[in-house]
Amino acid sequence: MAERRDGSGAVTGATIELERLTKRYPGNPAPSVDDVTMEIGAGETVVFVGPSGCGKSTLLRMVNRLIEPSSGRIRINGEDVTDIDAVKLRRRVGYAIQASGLFPHMTVAENVAQVPRMLGWRRPRIRERVEEMLDLVGLDPREFHGRYPRQLSGGQQQRVGVARALAADPPVLLMDEPFGAVDPITRDHLQDELIRLQQELHKTIVFVTHDFDEAIKLGDRIAVLRERSHIAQFDTPEAILTNPADDFVSGFVGAGAALKRLNLTRVRDVGIADFPAVTLDEPLQAIFNRLRTGGGNELLLLDRRNRPYKWLRRGDLMRARGSLARAGTLVGDTVTRDATLRDALEAVLTDSSGRVAVTGRRGQYLGVVDMETLLNSVHELLEADRLAAVEHQHELAEQRAPATGQQLEGLDQEGGVS
Ligand code: ADP
Repeated sequence: MAERRDGSGAVTGATIELERLTKRYPGNPAPSVDDVTMEIGAGETVVFVGPSGCGKSTLLRMVNRLIEPSSGRIRINGEDVTDIDAVKLRRRVGYAIQASGLFPHMTVAENVAQVPRMLGWRRPRIRERVEEMLDLVGLDPREFHGRYPRQLSGGQQQRVGVARALAADPPVLLMDEPFGAVDPITRDHLQDELIRLQQELHKTIVFVTHDFDEAIKLGDRIAVLRERSHIAQFDTPEAILTNPADDFVSGFVGAGAALKRLNLTRVRDVGIADFPAVTLDEPLQAIFNRLRTGGGNELLLLDRRNRPYKWLRRGDLMRARGSLARAGTLVGDTVTRDATLRDALEAVLTDSSGRVAVTGRRGQYLGVVDMETLLNSVHELLEADRLAAVEHQHELAEQRAPATGQQLEGLDQEGGVS
């Protein structure tokens, strides 16, 4: 069944069709959303991006009828939900907003359990589901279960917000600027986690933001919206960056399109290299031997949970007179396989070792990406973009030119037109 999660990576999301959707707020002569028609595929992440006030939130909130459309239809997985009970509809659609929207007087567990409880799930099932959800968003259930929202950081609150939105396993997840209120680093991590989560869950996600970089990073497709949610362009990030439909879209893409391109490629796409690593538990002599026989001058020292800890050079050990505690340089930033090349580049540039360690979900060491790999990838990306732009110019020129002699000849042979 399309809406069930079966653990095999199958799509669990639902299609969304918006047909001629319009919203007129009382007292407002012009519609805030005007005649929008759009189809979103099952398991797709679609980002609505556009200037403030263009009607993104209104359009999003009409999908679960938090805002009732003035006219038009909404279909989810083919079912017309425009006139069904709105409360029931909202229980079937996950919804996450800025600043998480958690109930302050409820614990984390109670917040996450809210929709399953309203749906009448049995207690053991709810308890199990809450644990599963907290684990899914990277919060240890034992630690966070009984806390209140005020006892969490902004990023943790946002994670609970996502756990709550997903608790009843809805096929559709609507996210309204969910990461708008957290600092840039936390925001980056939350974005990475959403990508990882989506790879696991394959929900249909509709995400609103005014930040084009965020749209590029998260969207399978991006709908660039102008005033009244008129669709300026609805396409993949690659297509929008390389062929913006008009000046409005170009303006939105903004300067530095080449650098933004870095946001489209992930660490996992560039090949993670092995790099010799040792753990803190290994005897010093073994570490010396590895340095001597490894051919390189450097090792990565891992802590007892296999997380990157220090870069160790041969000379470091000598100078520190054999004490690991004093030797080496602490590892600065690390990246996950889902981080963008831009994140990786930043990490490499700020780390003295000229490379960045790549870690798994629980921070465990997987390998490294170095400056050379990154520069080569960037170079290839830009070259590919340049070729795509040239091809596009050719296509445009052909469309404008009248039919050539060659094309007429073809017709003559195949269709006998003379
Ligand atoms: P965005 O999410 O793109 O910033 P909104 O969907 O919030 O835009 O708003 C679109 C337009 O509708 C704006 O001009 C806003 O002033 C107007 N609007 C939003 N909510 C209401 C409301 N409850 N009553 C009247 N006008 C509203």
